[in-house]
Amino acid sequence: SQEFDITKIRNDFPTLNQTLNGNPLVYLDSGATSQKPQSVIDATTRFYNLGNANVHRGRHTLSERATEQYEAARLKIADYFNVKANEIVWTKGATEALNLLAHGLQSQITHEDTVLITPLEHHANIVPWQVLTQNTGATLSALPLEQNATFNIARCIGFITHTKAKVLCISQASNTLGNITNLAPLIAAAKAVGTLVVVDGAQGAMHLRPNLKQLGCDFYVFSAHKMLGPTGVGGLYGRYELLNALTPYQTGGEMIDTVTLEKSTYRDAPAKFETGTPNIAGVIGFSAAIDYLSALNIQQLQRYERTIFNYAATQLSKIDGVTIYSDLNNNIGTLSFNYKAEHPYDLATLLDGFGVAVRSGHHCTQPLMHHLGVKGTVRASFAFYNTHQDVDNFIHALKESIDLLD
Ligand code: PMP
Repeated sequence: SQEFDITKIRNDFPTLNQTLNGNPLVYLDSGATSQKPQSVIDATTRFYNLGNANVHRGRHTLSERATEQYEAARLKIADYFNVKANEIVWTKGATEALNLLAHGLQSQITHEDTVLITPLEHHANIVPWQVLTQNTGATLSALPLEQNATFNIARCIGFITHTKAKVLCISQASNTLGNITNLAPLIAAAKAVGTLVVVDGAQGAMHLRPNLKQLGCDFYVFSAHKMLGPTGVGGLYGRYELLNALTPYQTGGEMIDTVTLEKSTYRDAPAKFETGTPNIAGVIGFSAAIDYLSALNIQQLQRYERTIFNYAATQLSKIDGVTIYSDLNNNIGTLSFNYKAEHPYDLATLLDGFGVAVRSGHHCTQPLMHHLGVKGTVRASFAFYNTHQDVDNFIHALKESIDLLD
């Protein structure tokens, strides 16, 4: 098979080929949002240049073309995840998908039920469930997390089996640490006691390319912008019967079947959850992103990402005073760390001066920060378009920054 062609890939991403503060840009913030290949930018521009029309409404040519592209994108993402097109609802991102889901499940939850989350979830996979349990009187509980922020699977299986929760909400990979969750045994345990499983795939969707039918979760949420696509687009996958049984999150045009002044009937999923004019250009751009990702061999991509990550982890571990919080053996490519007691913002600011883009702070995971006993971390998150040179530049900049702090 062909080698992973990093030179070609770098050339596909215009953002990566620039200097920042007099240095080549080293983009290590793909956990926040990925960069976009030219094909995604072009697809979006082409739509606005030549194709702009609303979807599902007109019978004129442009509207029909827009509708075709919009629905073709649904099929494309469904294929990517090995599910059916009518099991995909477009949203504006993972956050909206989780809110849609928590709201949509509310009528099925009583005060006797338990909703299970985990201590390492992004706030987007915590707060909607807090609202749901507050509204219903249900109990909100969390899976146990070991001191090093990994899951002890046997312990978690025991917890799931004993709790018999209505829903388990869990990340495929942690946005803060990059740790990959060993989902299969947890999903099996949840299934065995009738617990619905919601997987937050915001971080896993690109790096792990999951086969959702095989994984067997009931719901899965994702964000296009973390998968080479535009911002403001994402989605919810749901097993069809379960998806169709959710209460609509928002109401209005397009999601209805009939409306009188007194009452309305709703269409079936996914239309039932897509009211109002959607982010058409965003969905079309996302479609191009899925084309781009699908053309890459996933084994090669993962092998390459693993090589870069191992190289970065080894270099970072050698620096005295650095504490790494990420699980280095099982990771999508994210290094969360601190240097001595220095404030992560200071380090990130200094790194920015060298053209290195990292994130710092609590990364929307305050319970995880509490668990780790830190206020924040510096997070360097890698993707398949990063290089060994990026790692060298990052480590060099980090050493220089440390010298300035010490
Ligand atoms: N969950 C996880 C694990 C995330 O990393 C993010 C984004 N940082 C979200 C949910 C929310 O995604 P979005 O901001 O795209 O809605």
